[in-house]
Amino acid sequence: MRLIILGPPGAGKGTQAQRLVERYSIPQLSTGEMLRVAVATGTEIGREVKAIMDRGELVPDDVVNHMVSDRIDQEDCRRGFILDGFPRTVAQAEVLTAMLEQKGVKLDAVIELKVDQAALIERMEKRVADTLAAGGTVRSDDNRETFARRLDEYRRKTAPHREIAR
Ligand code: ADP
Repeated sequence: MRLIILGPPGAGKGTQAQRLVERYSIPQLSTGEMLRVAVATGTEIGREVKAIMDRGELVPDDVVNHMVSDRIDQEDCRRGFILDGFPRTVAQAEVLTAMLEQKGVKLDAVIELKVDQAALIERMEKRVADTLAAGGTVRSDDNRETFARRLDEYRRKTAPHREIAR
């Protein structure tokens, strides 16, 4: 099973992907999570993208394209995978199409989550409150200002192109 989950920040891509992981025993490939790990561990990519992510903007296509291609080549993706948060631009969608063709694999479905904007902001705030209550670390891009930017990036760069991304 090879799936893509698309949707604005706070739509629940990660939560739904986790359910699919359990159901189909295939890995969730979250570009956001991969980038956060790169930032946290201070890799070259992490240093390159930290400021961009903290502003709530999309990182350059090249960075994520390479990350996804390398990840799909790993052994645990042979039976399938769930792409969470990729592709997010037309350029990424085009690279993904070529990449899958070259690797000889086909997608089964693209799932788009749609959620009302006010609910998205509420969810982000609840996520922050829950994380703090549990003594965890809040994502540095989970604050009102950066979240608004992430929503705007989604609206401008991802949502209008969904017909093409399919
Ligand atoms: P959300 O969908 O909640 O905004 P993600 O965890 O998917 O969160 O992404 C967090 C950040 O990582 C994004 O704001 C962006 O900076 C970066 N990012 C993740 N995936 C991509 C991608 N496919 N292209 C460009 N930037 C990405």
